[in-house]
Amino acid sequence: MSELLTRIFFGGFVRMHVLYHAVREPIYGVEMMEELARHGYEVGPGTLYPMLHQLEQAGYLVSQAEVVGGKQRKYYRATDEGSQALEDAKARLRELVKEVLHDDPPTPSIRPSPAPDE
Ligand SMILES: [Zn+2]
Repeated sequence: MSELLTRIFFGGFVRMHVLYHAVREPIYGVEMMEELARHGYEVGPGTLYPMLHQLEQAGYLVSQAEVVGGKQRKYYRATDEGSQALEDAKARLRELVKEVLHDDPPTPSIRPSPAPDE
């Protein structure tokens, strides 16, 4: 999966995926990177941590530090706003999937058909 594709398209997918899991249970960076890798996204700490901070700044995640095995680990969970943002994103995703993956009948053009006498 190329860096370019990741930068252009998949940033939003990754944020949504993070939010999805953070609504269900507190997550931390390393396990989230493993989860993303399992789905084919090679996302390193230099990409994931800024995203987590950004989602926290936006009020969608809150973090809490815990000491696990003598090391500090930062857990993130979704706020009510994060949960609502995920629902909004899911509605948009559903709508996009309907057109892009199930385009039946196909809509080859977004332009209105010309009037017969044009
Ligand atoms: Zn997942």
